[in-house]
Amino acid sequence: MEKKVILVLNCGSSTIKFSIINFKKKIFLKGVIDYLKTSKVCAMWTHLNFSKEIFYFKKKITYKIGLKFIFNLLKNQFKKYYNNIIGVGHRVVHGGEEIKKTSLITKEILIKIKKSSIYAPLHNPNNLLGIKNSLKYLPHLSDKNVAIFDTTFHSTIPKIAFLYAIPYFFYKKHKIRRYGAHGINYLYITQKSAVLLNKNIYSTNLIICHLGNGASITAIVKGKSADTSMGLTPLEGLVMGTRCGDLDPSIIFYLYEILKIPIKKIKKILMKKSGLLGLSEINSDFRILEKQYKDNIQTEISIKIFCYRLSKYIASYFVPLNGKIDALIFTGGIGENSGLIRKKIIKKIQFLGFKLDKIKNINNNFQKNSSIHQEKSIPIFVIAADEEKMIASETFKILKNCEQK
Ligand code: AMP
Repeated sequence: MEKKVILVLNCGSSTIKFSIINFKKKIFLKGVIDYLKTSKVCAMWTHLNFSKEIFYFKKKITYKIGLKFIFNLLKNQFKKYYNNIIGVGHRVVHGGEEIKKTSLITKEILIKIKKSSIYAPLHNPNNLLGIKNSLKYLPHLSDKNVAIFDTTFHSTIPKIAFLYAIPYFFYKKHKIRRYGAHGINYLYITQKSAVLLNKNIYSTNLIICHLGNGASITAIVKGKSADTSMGLTPLEGLVMGTRCGDLDPSIIFYLYEILKIPIKKIKKILMKKSGLLGLSEINSDFRILEKQYKDNIQTEISIKIFCYRLSKYIASYFVPLNGKIDALIFTGGIGENSGLIRKKIIKKIQFLGFKLDKIKNINNNFQKNSSIHQEKSIPIFVIAADEEKMIASETFKILKNCEQK
């Protein structure tokens, strides 16, 4: 059992993450193909012995080429793990109303994931590519692929938070409702926070800010998701890398009826050309924007809007929590690495009882998974996202259940 490992594939909207993990959640290999869709694509991976390697691609690559690179890397350079892979765990963003739990990937499940692509058009197609390539490169494991859904964790959100104020018919007949996303990491962060707080998970109340290229926020009441900012699709809510987040729906009518922009193009504008990219007119990548924060007025305003929208959400989530909060958590690429963002947010919500320790906030960039609050503050933690471990342990569980049947 010691030697048996799971390959975890997390095909996101702008990165492909992969890892090799055993049933004790020990990570042997962890890697990412980053900056996909830009001209500076690179693959980075870290081995158990901490040797870090980077490979630069000569040009922009497709997801298919990225996946081929990963499978070849495993086969050629990490044969000892490759030969011990007993299953593959895939992160899938949207399971729709029909899939509410982690599932072994069968033909029926694949059809349902495909059907749910309308709810997550930037993600589910990439997740499907991950599955398709895993079946291609590891054909002997074709019945050992498991899908872990981001929507599962949010199935506890009550009707008052998941229904939209449109005719009820659209929910009854077409299942139009809030589904949320980032659920795998929210589950992981909730478990980790309960441990840090030394509390039972079922009495833990949190506000978790998952700030990455896609960004969302979730209110956790007694260990369960009670409300979240992403909606029917991952387009609603916070300002994101390229997604607009909350919007007056009439803007869409205006773009379509008055400006005569075709609906397909409007979709592209709101999903791929908006958010930090649209506002800054420079880039969606926070690392680049942060560097120019002081010198470029457009970058400054886009970061300020990002922080303003997020702080409004944090304040509003005191409602589902009934004011009883145990901690505020920052996670995701921006949440974990940007002291600037954390400083700006906390300043806006100080009146709620949050007080930032400025030194800890800066040092935290080098030492994740720790607190950044002053003594007399509501606890504030930075916790590194770890969807991969969660996916691996769920995959082991499902495969074990299958063996026992
Ligand atoms: P994720 O989607 O969680 O992988 O996060 C991606 C986002 O995190 C991108 O906007 C990155 O620019 C941002 N990010 C990653 N590393 C850093 C860093 N060291 N400082 C600021 N932002 C970062």
